[in-house]
Amino acid sequence: MLIVMTQNATDKEIKGVEAEIVRRGYAAKPIPGGERVSIGVLRNRGAVDGAFFASLAGVKEVIPVTKPYKQVCREFHPEDSIVTIGNVTVGNGHFAMIAGPCAVESRDQALAIAKKVKAAGATLFRGGAFKPRTSPYSFQGLGVEGLKILAEVRETLGLPVVTEVMDLDTFDVVEAYADAIQIGTRNMQNFSLLRRAGKSKKPVLLKRGLAATIDEWLMAAEYILEGGNDQVILCERGVRTFVNHSRNTLDISAVPVVQKESHLPIIIDPSHAAGRRDQVLPLSRAAVAAEAHGLMVEVHHQPEKALSDGAQSLYPDQFAELCRQVNAVYDSFRK
Ligand code: PEP
Ligand code: MN
Repeated sequence: MLIVMTQNATDKEIKGVEAEIVRRGYAAKPIPGGERVSIGVLRNRGAVDGAFFASLAGVKEVIPVTKPYKQVCREFHPEDSIVTIGNVTVGNGHFAMIAGPCAVESRDQALAIAKKVKAAGATLFRGGAFKPRTSPYSFQGLGVEGLKILAEVRETLGLPVVTEVMDLDTFDVVEAYADAIQIGTRNMQNFSLLRRAGKSKKPVLLKRGLAATIDEWLMAAEYILEGGNDQVILCERGVRTFVNHSRNTLDISAVPVVQKESHLPIIIDPSHAAGRRDQVLPLSRAAVAAEAHGLMVEVHHQPEKALSDGAQSLYPDQFAELCRQVNAVYDSFRK
C-alpha cells in the first residue's frame, strides 16, 4: 500500500505515519516526490487497514498496490526514477549511451576502443572482465586484471564503467571496481546474486533473461530494491524465439510495457539481440523511437580479431554513425 501525504504535511506527521507502520510490524519506505512525500508499506503478509492510515494527520490518500513487484511498480512510485552511474544520470529524459567491447581483452584494446566510443558520443564504457560463455573452452575474460583495465579507462578518459558480475565469489571485487554492476541474462533469476546486489551501493544493470516474461524480470528487479538498492536499470537484450535470422528477437514492446508498469529506466542492447552487426543500427533507431532510456552497444576496433562477439560488434565508424542517427531520432520527437 502507498500512503500519499498532503503537500504541506509536516516532518512530524510523516514520522508519525512511519511509526504507525512499524508499530504494526510492517516496513515503511519514504518516497520523496516532486510535490509531496509518499510512504510505502512493505512486508505486510495480509491486508493493511487502509482506513486507519487514511485517518492519520497529514495523509492525503491511501492507494492499494496491486502488483506483486511492489517497489518496482508505478503504483508505488509514479514518477520516473533516475539512476546515477558515476557522474552520468540515466532515466526520466536522461539518455545513456553505453558502448565498448564484449570483453576486455587487453589494456591497449580497451583504451583504443574507449577513446573511439567517447569521441563518438558514448557516455559510459562497457566491457566484460568475467564472461559468461556457453562453452567452457571459450575465452572466459581477464578477471581481476580486466577490472583493473576498466579502472584505468575510467581514470584516463573519465568514462564510468559497466561490467558484469557472474557469481557471489567475485561480487566484492567487481563491486569495488565497477561504476555499475551488470547482472546478465543467464543470471536474471540467480536469487542469491540479486539479493547481494540489493545490498550494494552501486547501481545495477539487470538484463532480461533469455526466456523471461516481463513479470519475471520485474520480480527479479524487486529482489534488488527489496534489499535496499533502488538504483536499477533494466536492459532488454532480445529473447529466445524460433527464428534463425538473428541471435535473439529484440522485444521492442518491452519498452512501453515496462514504462507503463515500472518507474525504473529501461535501455536496449541491440547487439546481443541481433548477434550480427548489420542489424544493430536499425534496431538502435527503433529502440530510441520507442523511447528507451538508453542503448548498450558492442564496439570493437578490430572485430575480426575479437575474442568474443566479434560478429555483432560495430566498427568505431559505424558506432559514430549510429550516434548521429539515434540523436536525430531522439531530437525528432523531443522538441
Ligand atoms: C554482455 O552484455 O556482455 C552479455 C553477456 O550479455 P547477455 O547477458 O545479455 O547475454
Ligand atoms: Mn557480448
